Amino acid sequence: MISPGLQYPIFGPEISCPHCRQIIPALTLTDTYLCPRHGAFEANPQTGELVHLQSGRHWRRWNGEWYRQHTHPDGIRFEIHEALDRLYTQGYRATKVIIASRYRELVSAYLERNTPWRGNSDSQTPRLYGLPVEFSPESKEDPCWDVINFDLEKEPGIPKRYPYFRLFE
Ligand SMILES: [Zn+2]
Repeated sequence: MISPGLQYPIFGPEISCPHCRQIIPALTLTDTYLCPRHGAFEANPQTGELVHLQSGRHWRRWNGEWYRQHTHPDGIRFEIHEALDRLYTQGYRATKVIIASRYRELVSAYLERNTPWRGNSDSQTPRLYGLPVEFSPESKEDPCWDVINFDLEKEPGIPKRYPYFRLFE
């Protein structure tokens, strides 16, 4: 087996661009990958991350997929919102959001909490977009949680033309 470590950055001779998914090559003897549309990405062997030099965005990779690493709560909230929209269009509805525990501090202040006067049993359960939120196990129990950002529990939903139609029923 040939060890690629000496010639190529940590992600190998080519990767798919995190922005456009096009296959892009590594530049020889550097840690850089170059996308003709999105410019240079640099692999960091210390952190295992890919960094877009122009925007400073960071990604980690799991099972061949790139996962953007968020540094601001709006970034991960937006990504969850997009995933919820996708679920609706696929005919599902989400029942729970599981957020990677490494984001606990980042997002906690932004989660909705039920007001205590309702007195129901899950009044302490934080919510996001109305859905209960849990945090993932620690990544040493399941290493994917060091990379992926969140997971959605779902159930088949009644197909509706407009996802928020039920508000008016
Ligand atoms: Zn690209």
